This record gives sequence, C-alpha cells and structure tokens, in this order.
Amino acid sequence: VTALEIKNITKVFELGGGNRVTAVQDVNFKVEQNSICVLLGPSGCGKSTILRMMAGLEIPTKGEIAIGGRTVDGPGRDRGMVFQAYTSFDWLSVRKNVEFGMKINGIDPDERRERAERFINLVGLGKFADVYPSQLSGGMRQRVAIARTLANDPEVLLMDEPFGALDAETRWLMQELMINVAEQTNTTMVIVTHDLEEAIFLADKIVFLSSHPGRVKEEIVPEFKQGQR
Ligand code: ADP
Ligand code: ADP
Repeated sequence: VTALEIKNITKVFELGGGNRVTAVQDVNFKVEQNSICVLLGPSGCGKSTILRMMAGLEIPTKGEIAIGGRTVDGPGRDRGMVFQAYTSFDWLSVRKNVEFGMKINGIDPDERRERAERFINLVGLGKFADVYPSQLSGGMRQRVAIARTLANDPEVLLMDEPFGALDAETRWLMQELMINVAEQTNTTMVIVTHDLEEAIFLADKIVFLSSHPGRVKEEIVPEFKQGQR
C-alpha cells in the first residue's frame, strides 16, 4: 500500500532581483505504508525542501504530494515532524511534554495519559516520566520529542537529520530505537540524512538525490532489507 506519493515535484525559490534557484526538479517517488524511506544526498540537494513540502510547510512550484491519496496543501495532523534540535519544553516533565502535544490536538485527558504512558515506554523513558528534560541527555531529549510526535498518531513521521546533533554511540542507539518503533507502530517514516551508514541501517528504501538542481539519482533497496518487513 502506498502511504505517500511524490508526483513530479519541482520547487523554485525566488531570491529577489529576478534571481531564482531550482531546489528540486521533477522528483518522483513513492513510500510504502509502514516502511522507512531515507532521503540521502549531499548538502543542498533539496532533502529538507522535499521534507518541508511533505510537511506542508512549503508549497511545490509544480507537481503534488499525496498522503493516503489526499493531496497535501498545508500542515496537518496526519503528519508529525521531528527536527534536529531537541524541541522539548524544559519547564514541563517528560510526561507533561508528551501530553501537551496531544492537548493541542484536542485529545481528551484520559486518552492523553494512556498514550503518554505507552509512548514514553516505547522510546525507553519509562523511568524518566517525571523528570525534566534539562536533566536528560541529548539523545533522551530527542526521544521525548519522538514520543510527543508519535503520541498524536501521525500516519507519516517526518524527520530532518534527527540524530545529527548526537554523538556516535547515542546515534546508534537512536537508529535501533527507530527500527523498533517502525516495527511496533503503523507509522510510515521519511528520514533525511547525509550519513550513508545511517541510511543503509534504517532504510527500507533509500532515495538518493543529486544536487543543482535536486533530482532523484537512484532508488536503492538495501539488500539485507529485501522482504524483511
Ligand atoms: P539539503 O537539505 O539537501 O541540504 P535544502 O533543501 O536545504 O537542501 O536546499 C536545497 C537548495 O534550495 C539549496 O540550494 C538551498 O540554498 C535552496 N533553498 C532552500 N531553502 C530556501 C529558501 N527558503 N529560499 C531560498 N533558497 C532556498
Ligand atoms: P503562546 O500563544 O503563548 O505562544 P501557545 O498557545 O503556543 O502559547 O501554548 C499555550 C501554552 O503552552 C503556553 O502558555 C505555554 O505555557 C505552553 N508552551 C509549552 N511549550 C511552548 C512553546 N514552545 N511555545 C509556546 N508555548 C508553549
């Protein structure tokens, strides 16, 4: 089942003075439901721009993006986004951080408590539910952001260099965590990285982009992943 379809997307940024840059040109690919798709390529190849268009934060100049068959025309609850910088609320406990994300989306209190518990456990922070983020390591704070995003039950989880700020060992643990999350939820994931090893470890499919303008160079299915999920 196709969860996400990128249909012939081009994105041109107007820079003023008649100057423009084609960030992304004629990009097509599909992402299967409950799979991990990694966007890989050099700096400037349009990875973030593609992810931001998926999130509805940028409008394509040409083409369209469909999620579950619906055309994306702005941000929506069917998508959750995790950024490189930890976006926890330092004055709220881990539990309150995760509940706060759901409060914005109007989920009722009992359901919030139940989901917070479940997703805090899923990301391995069960013992830290009442701790404040400032007392946690960078990797743990990123787990809080992941739990908060997943608790809203998005169809698609969009992550822009999510582990780029973490040390090598923590990054490794986070990659294993994401595989675990993918296996235990119905979430479809799109992860942007420029790290080849990370891409190979995480991806069911790698969309490899080249730059100036950003185009799909190749789609790669890491061999050991074929038929695994
Ligand atoms: P990547 O994430 O692969 O590093 P980006 O999507 O950030 O690439 O950028 C792709 C190209 O689009 C680059 O040339 C970048 O300078 C340009 N670009 C991205 N965002 C904007 C913007 N808001 N305005 C103008 N140019 C932009
Ligand atoms: P505001 O309108 O003051 O920016 P919001 O409507 O975004 O606040 O959020 C409502 C409440 O959520 C705020 O009063 C604040 O205590 C809390 N909150 C938690 N994190 C944030 C954040 N990063 N930005 C804004 N408010 C936040």
